[in-house]
Formats: sequence, structure tokens, C-alpha cells
Amino acid sequence: MKSEELFNESKKFLPGGVDSPVRAYKPYPFFAERAKGSKIIDVDGKTYIDYCLAYGPMVLGHANPEVMAEVILQLKNGSAYGVPTEKEIELAKMVVKKVPCADMVRFVNSGTEATMSAIRLARAATTRNKIVKFEGSYHGAHDYVLVKSGSGAMGLPDSPGVPEETTKNTILVPFNDEDVLLDLVKDQGDSIAAIIIEPIMGNIGFIPPKKGYLEFLRKLTSENDIILIFDEVITGFRIAEGGAQEYFGVTPDLVTFGKILGGGFPIGALAGKKELMEMIAPSGNVYQAGTFNGNPISVTAGLTTLKQLNHSFYSEMNLKGEKLRDGIRDVLVENDLNYQVAGLSSMFQVYLTEKEVWNYEDAKTAQIDKFTHYFQTLLNNGVFVPPAQFECCFLSLMHSDDDIQNTLEIIDKGMKTIK
Ligand code: PLP
Repeated sequence: MKSEELFNESKKFLPGGVDSPVRAYKPYPFFAERAKGSKIIDVDGKTYIDYCLAYGPMVLGHANPEVMAEVILQLKNGSAYGVPTEKEIELAKMVVKKVPCADMVRFVNSGTEATMSAIRLARAATTRNKIVKFEGSYHGAHDYVLVKSGSGAMGLPDSPGVPEETTKNTILVPFNDEDVLLDLVKDQGDSIAAIIIEPIMGNIGFIPPKKGYLEFLRKLTSENDIILIFDEVITGFRIAEGGAQEYFGVTPDLVTFGKILGGGFPIGALAGKKELMEMIAPSGNVYQAGTFNGNPISVTAGLTTLKQLNHSFYSEMNLKGEKLRDGIRDVLVENDLNYQVAGLSSMFQVYLTEKEVWNYEDAKTAQIDKFTHYFQTLLNNGVFVPPAQFECCFLSLMHSDDDIQNTLEIIDKGMKTIK
């Protein structure tokens, strides 16, 4: 197999043979040749229905014709300028129009940069140092937040190379637990700069907030002058036009984006209230900078993508999601399995546990060994989901009824292999 040969070669030159840890799975990952719509095709010519979708960005499916056409036009005019462009204003205006908390936007290059900068801004604005994060949430690979992280770091010991001095200011709490936070804020509220939260936990599978939990957080943070940061790198432009904050009707002070905002090209952004955002250099003195910030290719792809995400798009995505999740529930019943099917709109995951999943400890009851077999069966039969139990799966606009029907038949095979 060409993928196997490439992986062996790759391991000589790239640590672990990949450029991001979750991409490596046993015995070897398939190497992509191309992708179109709902499908990704590997170097051996095999086609997969893709529910990984590059871990979230490809909401319109791969190689969307409008996005590609606009990107090609932009490429002919240059790919990086180091000076501002009109398109950056256009994209910022679109974000401001769609997202409740956004008065102003700073474009960066990744979700990691976005959360790093949002935390710096919150610390500067409050002149406090501590931040609160949730067990199993993932906010990127920078030092402030790399403790008990989800995604590729899920269940691993915290990374060497992250100084204790940095993470001693990062306080961990369980998701969906009001009492722990009440006690914490009572004790230490006046030294906490920010609470950073994925409003739906998407790096530990899929965990929604309990009813009223986000409202509780909003009230607690407002009353204690703590900045509430929604990390919507996954949920932004996926759950609703205005992201999870629109869906749940809770407006944070700051929000971070990545993934969909770049229409398949690298991007990140932080956005929020004017008085906070104007503290960022050069209008203020909170330093943030980047050679590729506001890159015209990413901005063009993002603009062309966001223009296509209207009300009817979300209705269609909700229907596709429901159809798939209901189908998976039927498969489980037919196989006499009592596992959890979690999800909302175009996000979903099957937890191989009988326990309802509301936080990190619940998620850890999932049977990871079984998930590996399930994943392999799906892959062998042409369905690509992220290779780990603690990732989320995504649908795109291009996933057809036939794709969903075929997928359900293959999920049935997957469930039978692990029974
Ligand atoms: N925040 C969340 C919620 C994410 O899911 C991710 C990446 O998966 C990040 C931040 C980091 O984004 P990036 O990989 O673009 O640095």
C-alpha cells in the first residue's frame, strides 16, 4: 500500500510521521490524494465518506466551487501583502453582523493564537493572572491551556516543556458543575481574569452544557468582573450563524474562532466588545501581531464560505444531523447496545459507554479499545471518522441521503464487530 510506504518514509522526516498527533493511528494513517464534496480519496485510490472534514472547517464540503473560484482569483493578485486589505473589513463586518458579542475582530492564523491572545487581553483588562478552564476542554497547543486537555492530549500526562510557573495560574474545574465554580469564585474570584469555555465540549467527543449552565456562568462572571471567553473554534458558524452564543442565547465578553472562518485555509480570530478589543495594539498596548494575520487567501475563502451560511443552510444541516443520529440510535437498538449518541446540528459522536456523558469523568468511562476496532471497521468499509473516541464528527452540506444511508449500514457492521 502506498500509504504504508509513505508513512514509513514520513517517520524518518516528521516526528511520528505526521504534523499533528491525532493524525497518527495504527497501523498507519491513509495519506490523502484529493478531496471533493463529502469524500476524501487516498493515494491508493480508495474513497471514504469523510466525517472528519479536517477536524471541522469543511462545512460546505471539500473544494467548494465558489470558494475555489474566488481563491484562484485572489491568488492571481498575490497571496500576502503585509498591508491591510478591504476584504479584511468585509470579513470583520460579516463576523460582527452574525455574532452577538462581536463589535470588533482581530484576525490571526489559528485557534491556538486566538485563545492565547484572548487570554492575554483578559489578563490585561482585569490586571489579574488566573484563568479557569474545564477538564477535557482543548483551546489549542499553547502553554496557558495545556493542562488536562482534550483532543490529542486527552488522557495523556501534561506535556513536558510547559513551565509550572505558567500553568499554576490555570485552574481546572469539571464541566457542568455549578457548585465547584461557586466555591472557587467565592475564594479566589478577585484574582481570576477569565473563564474560558467551549460552550459545547467538542474535543472530548460531544458534551452539551446542562440547561441553564451557560446562563449561570454569565451571571457569575458578570457579578465578579471576570471575563467570559467562549472558545467557538469548533461551534462558531457551525451550530448557528452566530455560533453557540446565538443558539443558547448567552453572550460572552470575548469569543475565539478558527476552522470554518477560514473556509478551509488557516485562520483564527478573536472578537468581542469594543472597549476590550480596543486595548489590542496598535489602538491599545496589549501586544498581538502576525506576519500572516488577515492573510488575503484565508480571508477570501472565509468570506466566500460565510456568505453561503444562511438560515436555510442551518435548517438543512440540522435535518442531516438528526437523520444520522436517529439512524445510529436505531442501529444500537437493533444490536441491543445501550451506548450514547451525542450531538447537535452537524456535530455528533457515539460514546461507547452506557453512562450519560456530562463531563470528563463520564467521558472516560467509554471503552477506548472497542472504539479502535469500531473505527477500523468503518475505515475498512470506506467511512472516515476521526480516529479517537474523544474527537467530534462533522457533517457537511455535501453529505447526501445516500451517504448517510451507506454510513448507517457500515456503522451497523462496526457495532457488530465490537459486540
Ligand atoms: N479551540 C478549540 C475549541 C479547538 O477545537 C481547537 C482545535 O481543534 C483549537 C482551539 C486550536 O485551534 P488550532 O488547531 O487552529 O490552533
